[in-house]
Amino acid sequence: MKRKELIKKYVEFFISKGHEEILNSSLVPENDPSVLFTTAGMHPLVPYLLGQKHPLGNRLCNVQKCIRTGDIEEVGDSYHHTFFEMLGNWSLGDYWKEDAIKFTFEFYTKVLKISKEKLAITCFKGDKDAEKDFSSSQIWISLGIPKERVAFLGKDDNWWGPVGNTGPCGPDTEIFYWNGKSKSSKKFNPKDKNWVEIGNDVFMQYNKNEKGNYNEAKQRNVDFGGGVERGLAILNNVEDDYKTEIFLPIIKEIEKLSKKKYEGGKEITRAMRIIADHIKASVFIISEGIIPSNTEQGYVLRRLIRRSVKYARELNLKESISKIAIPVFSVYDDYSELQKNKTKILNEIEKEEEKFKQTLERGINQFKKFSNNKKISGEESFLLYQSYGFPIEMIEEECKTHNIKFSEQDFEKELKKHQELSRTAAAGRFKSGLADNSEATTKLHTTAHLLLASLRQVLKDKNINQRGSNITPERLRLDFSFSRKLTDEEIKKIENLVNEKIKQSILVIREEMSLDNARKAGALGIFESKYEEKVFVYSINDFSREICAGPHVNNTKELGHFKIQKVESSSSGVRRIKAVLE
Ligand code: ATP
Ligand code: MG
Repeated sequence: MKRKELIKKYVEFFISKGHEEILNSSLVPENDPSVLFTTAGMHPLVPYLLGQKHPLGNRLCNVQKCIRTGDIEEVGDSYHHTFFEMLGNWSLGDYWKEDAIKFTFEFYTKVLKISKEKLAITCFKGDKDAEKDFSSSQIWISLGIPKERVAFLGKDDNWWGPVGNTGPCGPDTEIFYWNGKSKSSKKFNPKDKNWVEIGNDVFMQYNKNEKGNYNEAKQRNVDFGGGVERGLAILNNVEDDYKTEIFLPIIKEIEKLSKKKYEGGKEITRAMRIIADHIKASVFIISEGIIPSNTEQGYVLRRLIRRSVKYARELNLKESISKIAIPVFSVYDDYSELQKNKTKILNEIEKEEEKFKQTLERGINQFKKFSNNKKISGEESFLLYQSYGFPIEMIEEECKTHNIKFSEQDFEKELKKHQELSRTAAAGRFKSGLADNSEATTKLHTTAHLLLASLRQVLKDKNINQRGSNITPERLRLDFSFSRKLTDEEIKKIENLVNEKIKQSILVIREEMSLDNARKAGALGIFESKYEEKVFVYSINDFSREICAGPHVNNTKELGHFKIQKVESSSSGVRRIKAVLE
């Protein structure tokens, strides 16, 4: 079965059960500064799981692109990926355990025709906070899963939430598939790695309060999540996600460029998996408007690319790793954000690769010097990090391979000393992000950048600067320096130019740099005392470049239609524009 067919079957099945299909959201959560990436289909739905009404009703489903940085270390096995797609269905206070489990069972065994002999289940075993999830196990058994194939585990394995200290939480039930070459034993042993989790249903049965008590929830939700990659491997009998059409063309390209075989040995297989995984994830991250940097999402991206470069070097792969990215675009030809930004994506990968290659050889030589000792000091590891651009887990990995002791604590200590500056910058972003980072204000915030650039272009005056701005979810107000009244024609032109830029679907790029470099890059902003040494610069092509704390949308296409409502004089030499997005 093909990936698209699997996704289609899933969505169609849940639509036939009364669900509405919702959007595949952005990989970068729009209004949640607490995490870097969307890690599950449930993530964009949190407000609705907390009780807000969803406009499409109380039965939803979709496929969601996800990134799990927490799984980067697992990558190299046959079924953990940094980027993957998750099938999801939700009941927001609607159906409960019986229907949910029946739907899941029917989908896997009837729609996908996976043999139930190869399935096993885990359920929550109960503790002082919550009862044993006996009802779930009974439903599975009634559907034909043998009793010995149901195991009960504790909170570590079969419990979800709450997200913070309080809120919805509850047991989950997970489905495993026997992926071993040998025949599965009758009795299910959840510790046996041949059992691979393919999906799970979370039952938000409780609400945890400030006192730490678990009370029955007023709104009981169901959240199902299932991996596309793992599902596809099963359906194609390959026991390895990398042998499905989602990865194979990428692996083939690596084989071709390295002149090595995927199955040419454990280390080669692992290296190829890591490269394929990391490059794919990088393609998706860049398509969201992120570029390599030293903070947040940009740093995750940097690590992924650099790690790929290092493994490519080990495979003796001479050409640019950006070549490996090319098949990713055909595998995912249904993601328009990839197709639209292809040149930029390949370019960014190549640029980062070049940057790292400049220091990689010297770094490796430096590392060899350190490796005469049994232990690497904090200063030494920091040097590799700072001067040679080695991501920290790469240093750790190198140390492991060469049997050198590495202390993350020593490294952290050294890092802290050097970090004050960029941390204050990050805190700045966080603060302004939290002040009001609703979707509406974020959009208007980006619009204000487009507006300022348009004013400068249409009025042909490079001295126009922002004198103040005030943004509410309803409208933006921008004060700018300009000494005469604007004509109607000019106003129309400005409005049109902003709309033109919105229509062009331009990625909004954030970079961190020193104030000095920002000035050199021609970024607009107040260069006096107000900003910390390190600043964020937001660019919308070459059209607009401004120093700003953000947050902003990822792509101008999200903005809709721009309309100027009023232009008036504010004070002498200053004009004021009020505008909205419709
Ligand atoms: P595992 O224990 O195998 O890492 P998980 O418990 O982290 O899985 P969930 O958080 O329940 O998984 O995610 C739901 C489903 O998404 C999983 O059943 C699996 O099919 C898929 N999934 C989760 N993490 C990954 C990953 N890193 N790569 C590929 N698929 C994944
Ligand atoms: Mg996991």
